[in-house]
Order: sequence, then structure tokens, then C-alpha cells
Amino acid sequence: MKLLILFSLLFCVTFTLPGSIAKAEFRAGAAKVDITPANGVSLDGSISKNGPVTSVHDPIHARALVLENDSTRIAIVICDLCMVGRDVFDHAKRLIEQKTKSKIPATNILLAATHTHAAPRAIHIGKKPLDDEYHRLLAEKIAAAVIKANSQLVPARIGYTSFNKKNLIACRRFLCKPGSVGPNVFGETGERIKSVAGTSSAIIKPAGPTDPQFSVLSVQTQQGQPICVLGNFSVHYCGGYKRGAVSADYFGYFSEAIETNLRSKKIDTSTATPAAIGIMSNGTSGNTGAFQRSAGQKRFLAFEGMLFYGRMLAMDAIKAIEQLSYQQNPPLKMIEHELQLKVRRPDEKRLAWAKQILSSPKSKWPHRWSKIYADEAEHLSTYPETVSVKLQVIRIGDIAIASCPCEVFAETGLEIKKQSPFKKTFTIELANGYGGYLPPARQHELGGYETWPARSSFLEVDAAKKIKRELLSMLQELAN
Ligand SMILES: [Zn+2]
Repeated sequence: MKLLILFSLLFCVTFTLPGSIAKAEFRAGAAKVDITPANGVSLDGSISKNGPVTSVHDPIHARALVLENDSTRIAIVICDLCMVGRDVFDHAKRLIEQKTKSKIPATNILLAATHTHAAPRAIHIGKKPLDDEYHRLLAEKIAAAVIKANSQLVPARIGYTSFNKKNLIACRRFLCKPGSVGPNVFGETGERIKSVAGTSSAIIKPAGPTDPQFSVLSVQTQQGQPICVLGNFSVHYCGGYKRGAVSADYFGYFSEAIETNLRSKKIDTSTATPAAIGIMSNGTSGNTGAFQRSAGQKRFLAFEGMLFYGRMLAMDAIKAIEQLSYQQNPPLKMIEHELQLKVRRPDEKRLAWAKQILSSPKSKWPHRWSKIYADEAEHLSTYPETVSVKLQVIRIGDIAIASCPCEVFAETGLEIKKQSPFKKTFTIELANGYGGYLPPARQHELGGYETWPARSSFLEVDAAKKIKRELLSMLQELAN
């Protein structure tokens, strides 16, 4: 009798297992919302001189992926924007938290910009009243994309692969012969870097490596229907715009090509199936650029390069996905830390220089951008001594994502990938705010545009080392 009871108990336990597995089910949903700005909204900043909006070449979007298991729900949203300030992203996070009744807490939301330069900088730089209105709408639309993705959660599985596209990527900082680089914007001599330079006999070699890895995260229903493909690559942008025209650059063309392809492959086209969404995120591209011509061809015409890059990468990603094996119930975890970093504020000497440049607009400046950097010095003098930088890491099964708000140099991304406890690690930059360029200390020594103190480059010289160290420790915490 006792044996029979024991057997029945065992049988019951075995029988209840499928229920508990269903509870631990991994689910996913994806959606996109148009965030194209109205005419008059400011586009990219004072150096690019590409705004305000006068036309739309191709619309821009916020593309959202929501993932959940029994204990955790997270959202990743990539926006076709040049950069987004922390205030705008934090507003969107508060809305998401409220609207999901804290099912997606703010600390489980990664929001990032792609860095297309033909879209607004949603930060306080060069802001006008119309921009305030756009920033408010943007936060609401980012939240709407998450709410839509969240309403479409279905049982899902996940796969990851990567391939190299070395021929599409170049370091855009060049190490030059001593004495060959002219005075910088502040009139200082001795720098060794020309940035975004064409050809020059003074160039010795590229000043750093590139990260040629293209990562692909594929999310499907358990029956194999596509939900989302998230790509990640480290090319700054393609460019080749027309003044005042909005464009999502190659990030948008990649996503559109993925969506067209995935939708043509859907098994069930009824309305009950989730929309297939393509998303393209930027890895570590603070010092990298696209080649401005296809192999052996003449220079790209306007908007041609982005189409070439986006479609080629999408086709390669689709091919890679066909070989994938999927994880059914991947663990899901996200960690967020704040890191305090010092600001490179101008000293008395720099402020006196700025005052002199700004008070004598007709005199000869050491560099054509000197006035811009004199303005920037005055802006930076209002910054606090230290700022808080938001860092996040996400674990999805055996895949890890590390993110920070800066324009990160490739060497930092490569080191994070190499030292991560996860073999499959990729990085997302310009996430959760804007921390400017992040040159490693050695690149600060060499100088160049990306190192000149401004609202686009203001963190302390050791910021790259400190951010990398913190992200690696967070990745270790995820792995434990
Ligand atoms: Zn840029």
C-alpha cells in the first residue's frame, strides 16, 4: 500500500512537470513605431550642418523587442536617431513602467540610438522650441513601441550567430608622421591624428583596429515563425545625405530588407501571428567609418552607400539564420549600474582662450572649428565635476549584451568581447543617454577630433578603462 502511495505521488509529480515548464516559458514580441520628425525639427549638429528637417528620404522608427520568462521581462528599443539624451530616454522608461504596471521596470529597459546622422540629436545641443515638442513625442512613441511589442508576447525561442565583414569597415582615425598635423582647434600643436582624412602622404597607418563582427540575434515562435532579427555592427554610419532630408541610413535599410524577407517566409499569415521586425543596433563605432565606394567602383551617389550596406548585411544575416540552432528556454537576466566619472571641464586658461575667440569674431582662428569649440568650452564650464553614466548588461541564454551611453572605440569593444565570460557577447553603444566619444587613454594622447573637449567628448581620460572594467564585472555577475 505504502509503495502504491509513493508510486502515485511520484506519478503526480511527474504529471505536474509540464505545467511548471509552461510557467517557465520564454516569450517574445516585437513592434515598430514611426518617429519621423516634422519639418523644422533640428537635425545633426553644428559641424555637419545638416538641418533643420525639410524633407523625408526614408522614415525613421523606434524598433522594440520584448523578452520574458517566468521571473523577468525586458525591453530593448533601438531608435533611428543620431543620439538621445538621458532625460528623453528616462521619460520613455517612466511611461513604459507605468503602462506595464511595473511588469517592465525601468532597470530592465535598454534604449539606444543607431547614430544615423540624418536624424535629430535628441539632446540639449542646438535645441529649439520645436525640438522640445519632438523630444516629448519621441518618449511617448518609444513607449508605444514597447507597449505594442509587449501586447504580442508569444512562446518563443532564440538563436545567435555572427560573421565578419572586414571589407565594409575602416578605422577613420589615422596616425600621421610627427610634425605633419597642423594646430588643433585650440591652437595647440603636436597631435598625431587626422580624423576622417582622405589620402595624405603624412598618414602612417590607421590609429586603431576595427571590430568587423556582425552579430545576429534571431527570435522565432516555437513553431519557427520569425518574430525579430536584431543585427549589430560597428560602422559609425554611411552618410551621403542631402541637406535637410531625414534618413535612417543603413540601419533602416537593413531593418526594412530583413522585414521584407522574413514576412515572405511566414508560415501562417493570419493576423494572429506577430509582425516580423528587423532591428539594427550600433556596436562600437566611435572611431570607424564606412567605405564611401563599393569595391573598384566610383564614389556612391547620395543615399546609395546606405542602400548597398543595409541590403548586403541583411542578405548575409538571412543566410546565416538559415543555419541556426535555437535555444528553447534561455535564462534571462539584466543588470544596471551607475558609474560616476569625472568631466574634462575647461580650466581658467581654456576659458580665457574661449572668451578671446568669441569676442573677436573677425580675427584669424587657428582652425575653422575654433569658434565652435570656444562655444563648447563655455558650455562645458557649466557641467558638474562628475556625471553618472548608466551601464547595462543582458543575458539571454548563452548570449550577452553590454551597453553604455558613449560613442565607443573599437578596441574597447574588442576587449570586452575577448574578456567576457560569455563566448557570444556583443555591445550596444549610445544606450540610455549620451556620454560623448569614449577614446581610450592612448588615443587621448594622440589627440584628434574625437578627443577635443566639447559636449561631444567630455568624460575623463580614463573613462574607457573604467567603463570596460565595470561592464566586465557586471558580465561576470550575470554569468554566476
Ligand atoms: Zn557621429
